Amino acid sequence: MAAKGKTYKRASGEMIEVVEELVMKYHDRLLDCNIEVLLVYAAKDKYGEPKGPAITLRGKAAYACVRATTLEERVAGRGDAIIWVDGDDCGDWPDSRLRAIMDHELTHLEIVENSKTGMPENDDLGRPKVQSQRSRSVN
Ligand SMILES: [Zn+2]
Repeated sequence: MAAKGKTYKRASGEMIEVVEELVMKYHDRLLDCNIEVLLVYAAKDKYGEPKGPAITLRGKAAYACVRATTLEERVAGRGDAIIWVDGDDCGDWPDSRLRAIMDHELTHLEIVENSKTGMPENDDLGRPKVQSQRSRSVN
């Protein structure tokens, strides 16, 4: 087996449904956002062993991370935000853990509002402007 760098896969429909359900229940400010979910697999050595965590956040391994996309990424066809999930690990997570992790990631996403009107701002494509807030916890 050849060593390889990190690899990525689109999340299953099931995982997307979990995110959509959480948005509807607890994060309805994000209802108009298209949130992509990608699985990230750690870089592997020639023996197929991970060379490090799939996802690191400020130097620490994390189950998942999230950020809003840039206008350029949106123009190129990406979603309004991307959640990356540890693809090597998430297969072992009970549903409750997956939900807790996704729910946590969604708390980082905020809709940008006009400071005068309080109305959501749109970007150049007419899509909601989203910003990602830094985590105060480890993941
Ligand atoms: Zn966080």
